[in-house]
Amino acid sequence: MRGVVIIGGGLTGLAAAVALQQEHIAYTLIEVKPRLGGSIMTTRHDGFVLDGSPMLFERVGDWSLLREFGLDDALFVAAHSQYADIVGFKRGVGALVDALERRLTGNIIMRMAVSSIGRIDDCFTICLENGLMFNTDAIIMTAPARYAERILRTIQPESALMLLDYQYAHLARVSLGYPRETIRDLPELSDIRHAPYVWTDSPQRVPQNHLLLQVSIPVGDEHTSGDDLIDTALTSYHLPKNPVVQHVHYWPEADPLTRDTPAHQHNMTMIEQRLPDGMALVGSDYRAVTLIDRIAQGQEAARRVAAYLQK
Ligand SMILES: Cc1cc2nc3c(=O)[nH]c(=O)nc-3n(C[C@H](O)[C@H](O)[C@H](O)COP(=O)(O)OP(=O)(O)OC[C@H]3O[C@@H](n4cnc5c(N)ncnc54)[C@H](O)[C@@H]3O)c2cc1C
Repeated sequence: MRGVVIIGGGLTGLAAAVALQQEHIAYTLIEVKPRLGGSIMTTRHDGFVLDGSPMLFERVGDWSLLREFGLDDALFVAAHSQYADIVGFKRGVGALVDALERRLTGNIIMRMAVSSIGRIDDCFTICLENGLMFNTDAIIMTAPARYAERILRTIQPESALMLLDYQYAHLARVSLGYPRETIRDLPELSDIRHAPYVWTDSPQRVPQNHLLLQVSIPVGDEHTSGDDLIDTALTSYHLPKNPVVQHVHYWPEADPLTRDTPAHQHNMTMIEQRLPDGMALVGSDYRAVTLIDRIAQGQEAARRVAAYLQK
């Protein structure tokens, strides 16, 4: 199976796949989970559309690339920070994953982990968790550092070591649906950094005459129940205790704490310098901070491996 292997079907991997397609380059995308989207998850409950992971974004950078995916009108402005508008997706962030996924025509292997990679002569060997191995010309690695560390151990042990000490914060997203008349005062969202809270009564997200509140709650290392998290959300925002929909999405290892440190920037430079030609390491654990960065970096990785393949 020659061409390019993309490891991971989150936003970065999907953007890379679409960009390779535009360059007419064959690819195989390998995703360990039974669904695409990675850390982006939008689910439906009793007529409510819930963003289970990211929900709001500062509109910094060039968001016009959403047009490429037919999402010109996909955003709503939830609030304004001192830097930019804070936006969400009218139909949930999953609309972005769906738009990318719809475009894919390449080879996709789901429910399968890449366990390691090797290199011999001018090609890479991909080893899958089921023991199958095959060769490929180039690799775009988008798996988070905690998985990439294992995958890179054979081919780049020093780089793997640098990815070993990543630390993550755990996060829960609590979603609460109410009949509109039961909620009187809704707090304004003034700055995403201090108020991880959003509400909507958009007909694309809630049944008629209802509204949806979504709250981010940091979770510590101690044991917490879903009911405790719902109680925390209700108390913090003075909400009625009888939502018609309540749901907790819990994400251990949601937020890479070590990503923005100078040590991380230094390690990334060292890792990138050591990567063999024909291999890119991109995604939110590395240099892609914003949603748009992740798309742009997936596309850029595709262009880099395309240039490598043409040599
Ligand atoms: C609760 C939560 C809230 C968030 N809030 C925000 C926010 O407000 N703003 C913001 O910008 N971002 C936010 N994020 C982060 C954002 O969702 C991610 O940064 C982004 O979706 C990551 O995309 P990615 O493709 O780089 O990585 P991922 O989505 O992690 O995708 C990587 C993929 O690789 C797969 N994989 C891993 N190992 C292997 C393997 N060995 N073989 C094959 N596949 C493998 C994984 O299953 C996964 O699907 C949040 C994330 C969470 C969880």
